[in-house]
Amino acid sequence: MPTRNATAATPPLAGRKDGIAVVRRAGYDDIALYSAPQQRCAVDLSDNVNLWGAPPSALVAVRTTIEESVSRYPVAYEPALRNALARHAGVAPEMIVAGCGSDDVLDSAMRAFAEPGDTVCLPAPSFSMIPVFARVNGLVPVAVPLTLQLDADVERMLETRARITYLCSPNNPTGQPFSPQAVERIIDGAAGLVIIDQAYAEFGGESFTRLVMSRRPVLVTRTMSKAFGLAGLRVGYGIGSPDVIGEILKVRGPYRISAPAEAGAIAVLTNDQSWVTERVAEVVANRARFSRELALSGFSPVPSAANFVLVPVENSTALSAKLHDAGIGVRALRALPGIGDALRIGIGPWHLMQRCLDALARAA
Ligand code: PMP
Repeated sequence: MPTRNATAATPPLAGRKDGIAVVRRAGYDDIALYSAPQQRCAVDLSDNVNLWGAPPSALVAVRTTIEESVSRYPVAYEPALRNALARHAGVAPEMIVAGCGSDDVLDSAMRAFAEPGDTVCLPAPSFSMIPVFARVNGLVPVAVPLTLQLDADVERMLETRARITYLCSPNNPTGQPFSPQAVERIIDGAAGLVIIDQAYAEFGGESFTRLVMSRRPVLVTRTMSKAFGLAGLRVGYGIGSPDVIGEILKVRGPYRISAPAEAGAIAVLTNDQSWVTERVAEVVANRARFSRELALSGFSPVPSAANFVLVPVENSTALSAKLHDAGIGVRALRALPGIGDALRIGIGPWHLMQRCLDALARAA
């Protein structure tokens, strides 16, 4: 209890800043929330998900497990899911960490392997959340422009001596894979952990899973949000040596995957891989056809190994607004290093791609 005198001498709120200003982290001042469109278009090609929907086995598994699973905690560190992912990736279960989307694995890895003030080196342009994950963890993102061939600039990335080096292959938003030579040279020369984000690996480019057993610390991240059609369940995973995975599990904690999400993911991995492979084959065929049609209409799409195509345009904001009015959602990107303005367009069933081509022809 304060004495009567002390209370009189220091009025409780005199001279105090407003509450949030006192407790807010200085480094968070100019971090904005992710801006995703709140209203979906009739044809939404903006976020690179599986445009055929979810695999039937996942829907059945979520429905049938929901009643028994919602009132209990899942099994800590989800061993059944890690086993299924390990079989799929061809590695041992202790080389797998699952997360609430691969976002969560990337964010946890930054906390696990870097101290506040350390550097995270990334290519530019690349996945827009990486600088955000770096900054919310007190790290300093350093972006190194891609080469003219849209590959990683090995020398300049290595010069940063970063505690964490992030690569993305195939890269979002260019759609191009990084060359194995560039990836291997970065792993050889990097000062700290190398993360290779392979969210789109099912659609093309080389798998870099073999590199996690090199003697250098390497983490490959993958997701069930794209080829596997489970973006709403939020399941991603990392593949690394047991030592690397052990550190990330410390950060991530025991209960990050909900029980229904775990059941849905296991069902696809066990029973529906052919559904996934067939959809991937359709993406690859439609991607080639869509790129050909775009070229015939005078666009110069960047050759893609992912489930989207990057199309340089003059004014992406204006063009995407016109497409939006026509019911087609695409991602407008402004002033990308070495590319300029561009639209990133997701690839799905052909009737959707045709609607996009028709709307582009009217809008451009
Ligand atoms: N990496 C890349 C390159 C991405 O494009 C995305 C999603 N757009 C993610 C990671 C995160 O996906 P998720 O959290 O759904 O696994």
